[in-house]
Amino acid sequence: MMTESKLSDILPLVRQPSRYLGNEINRIQKDLSAVDLRMALAFPDMYEIGTSHFGMQILYDRLNSRNNIAAERVFTPDVDMQARLKAAGQPLTALESGRPLRRFDIIGFSLLYELNYTNILSMLDLAGIPFYAADRRQSDPLIIAGGPCTANPEPVAPFFDAMVVGDGEETILALADIWMAWKKEGGTEKDALLRRWQAVEGMYIPSFFDVVFDTAGHARLSARHPDFPTVRRAVLPDLNQTDFPAAPVVPYGRPVHDRLRMEISRGCTRGCRFCQAGMIYRPVRDRAPEAILSLTQKGLDATGYDEISLLSLSTGDYGCIGPLLTQLMTRHAADHRAVSFPSLRADTLTPELIGLIKKVRKTGFTIAPEAGSQRMRDLINKNITRADVEKSVRFVFEQGWQVIKLYFMIGLPTETRDDLQAIVDLVKDLRRIRPPKGRRRPGMNVSVTTFIPKAHTPFQWHAQISLEESRQKIDWLREQLKPARVRFKWQRPEVSWIEGIFSRGDRRLASLLVAAHRKGCRFDGWSDHFDFDRWQAAMDETGLDADFYTTRQRSFDDPLPWDHIDARVSRSFLVKEWQRALDGQTTGDCRQGKCYQCGVCDFKTIAPVVFSGNPADAAAPEAPFRENREKNPPQSYKKLQLTYTKTNDARFFGHLEMVNIFVRAFRRAGVDLKFTEGFHPKPKISFADSLPVGMESLNEFLTIEVPSHTNIDALPGRLNSQLPDGLSVTGVMPPGGRKQSQPPDVVCYRIDLQTGQFDPSCLQAFIARKTWLHEKRTVKGKVTRLDLKKMVHTVTLSADRQLTLCLTRKPGPSLRPSEVLKAIFSLGDGEIRQARIVKTQDTP
Ligand code: SF4
Repeated sequence: MMTESKLSDILPLVRQPSRYLGNEINRIQKDLSAVDLRMALAFPDMYEIGTSHFGMQILYDRLNSRNNIAAERVFTPDVDMQARLKAAGQPLTALESGRPLRRFDIIGFSLLYELNYTNILSMLDLAGIPFYAADRRQSDPLIIAGGPCTANPEPVAPFFDAMVVGDGEETILALADIWMAWKKEGGTEKDALLRRWQAVEGMYIPSFFDVVFDTAGHARLSARHPDFPTVRRAVLPDLNQTDFPAAPVVPYGRPVHDRLRMEISRGCTRGCRFCQAGMIYRPVRDRAPEAILSLTQKGLDATGYDEISLLSLSTGDYGCIGPLLTQLMTRHAADHRAVSFPSLRADTLTPELIGLIKKVRKTGFTIAPEAGSQRMRDLINKNITRADVEKSVRFVFEQGWQVIKLYFMIGLPTETRDDLQAIVDLVKDLRRIRPPKGRRRPGMNVSVTTFIPKAHTPFQWHAQISLEESRQKIDWLREQLKPARVRFKWQRPEVSWIEGIFSRGDRRLASLLVAAHRKGCRFDGWSDHFDFDRWQAAMDETGLDADFYTTRQRSFDDPLPWDHIDARVSRSFLVKEWQRALDGQTTGDCRQGKCYQCGVCDFKTIAPVVFSGNPADAAAPEAPFRENREKNPPQSYKKLQLTYTKTNDARFFGHLEMVNIFVRAFRRAGVDLKFTEGFHPKPKISFADSLPVGMESLNEFLTIEVPSHTNIDALPGRLNSQLPDGLSVTGVMPPGGRKQSQPPDVVCYRIDLQTGQFDPSCLQAFIARKTWLHEKRTVKGKVTRLDLKKMVHTVTLSADRQLTLCLTRKPGPSLRPSEVLKAIFSLGDGEIRQARIVKTQDTP
């Protein structure tokens, strides 16, 4: 992430340092001097969130598929890292090369959530790039953005040179081609480039639109170039015509989606009137099941993941979801790989589907009725009945789920107290549903969020409820649901309020963002970082009227800040849908052929793509080796002990990361591991020691069980080709094959201080003592007293900053070298954390 010397200085001092290494499996590293275009893909949230976003993976894959383009990644550093970078005067850099962001040609931000907006400013600030496009020089990179938030780009438009509205995978390549041609021609004038970009469908150039505010405060935008009065959303007509990443990057740490993500469909035609995604991703476009099966196989082989997540806005609607699931499970069950999906509508749950799902996942099942009363469900066009919800809950209880999660919204248009009461009644009735005899009563989680009207939906003119009303309604629901003994969760009304401001805001809000950032707002989507007082202070400073953006009821005649963005769903359709909502009329799903004229499809190039073939044919298997294994599972296994080294950057892997890294390396190398028996089988792998983060070792051991026929000699080579830098298997032997099958009695460490030095007089004092009692607090908080004189076997100072320490190992509480260093030499935390501590094979 930065130059090597600075990386080694800072990484030992920050939380979860592995997220800044950039050397994950399947990352793509190119010689940046040998390409024509260097693009940084920036995600304005933490690594664990950004690496879970498959849209960024798609762009990374598409851009890097071109030899003359290098795309690298950068995520918002955690606040501790931000402080360290600032203190060290180090700029924010991209993960793969460590090149400072400001030296890239283009930086492209993914905008998925309004509460991430202050992180954009943090990243630009850390990169040393001016916030506003108008303030940037010719030598600065071009800053662009894409993602669902561009449906109303205005609050952040002044920060960007260009924004991509709609599907990005083809647009970004068109944009890259134009940039490279412009550069080749010797182009230096940004405006000339932006003029060319403007011609690409989906490209929005904010500086080409002037904004004036009328006396009522409405933003009125006018295009500077009359040939481009609006920006039309880019639509990829057929997912099957473009490549999907076959080898996604496998992140370190604990990403929120730590599994293979497979987009099976884009767009949703259910027409829920509150749902922006349901409008701005139309029409529905299914990926062919053959492609899904083939891509899944490739993805699993390339990543070593043990879970596949099928992604779409409504996975249960996928044309042949049952046969597809059956095929996936049949293919991968023998390999202990599970299938999951994040979203299912209650009315798509069939006993067959639930039966398939329950084979792999029984912890929590989510149903989103969204509203309690049928009147309100009709108004929002949810098109599910109370009977659907009850039936689903019965199904999932019968099938043995332990927790059911229900999602509701408050503050929907025309909501009355009766509608809220209906939420309470529905939850209480569902709570009365009993599981079959002999089964434990499942838990029930009820989550409530405040409805936020979004651009390009039929509710875009509707007022959001006030902060106070939101608080009152959530409090009321919480009180009412107490007797139902459910776990009640809610999104903080203040968070919804800020999101509401930006969802339908205009360009004036850019100044609010800058003020909020200056006041310290960071990671506002994280409850532990969100600071409402700071936002209020920023609001006061800028003098902006929050109610103008939230609680104001718009009329159909009011200009809207996103009027120049043509999301392809027509305004007349949205107006009609709003009126149908008020009339209690529902609108059907166009997936099955009936068009409701939303305006998106021309039925020449753009039309719903729904899988309609014979699912059985479509799912014809390719007979991968894993199927052979299912037919011929190994009859016997043998235990092996592997020795390995953990050096350099690998010292930043924690123990749980190490388990994942090794298990996935075994999978990628095609080495079967024996699994435990029981409900949640796990691969049999055990590590002799769990080294603390930051410690290196030349002498580590782990034990596995593999099929008896496994070629032991080839094992180190196969594994090493799949391990990240710094991890290397050095030997394989049967248990007990090494001299000591138990950890040796004495373990030695070589310690090199990077800052500070060892004081020889401290060592002399230690040597002179007969006893040296040291208090050690265990993880459970218990304090034990250990005599260092008995535990330190030898300690030898070889230079001011170099020392060899050998510790005696006995059953019971043990000591880490860092504790000994601190006790004997009174070194500071920073000096110890930055020291290179290597567990060696030396003997005292
Ligand atoms: S134009 Fe018709 S078929 Fe196409 S997405 Fe809209 S409603 Fe569906």
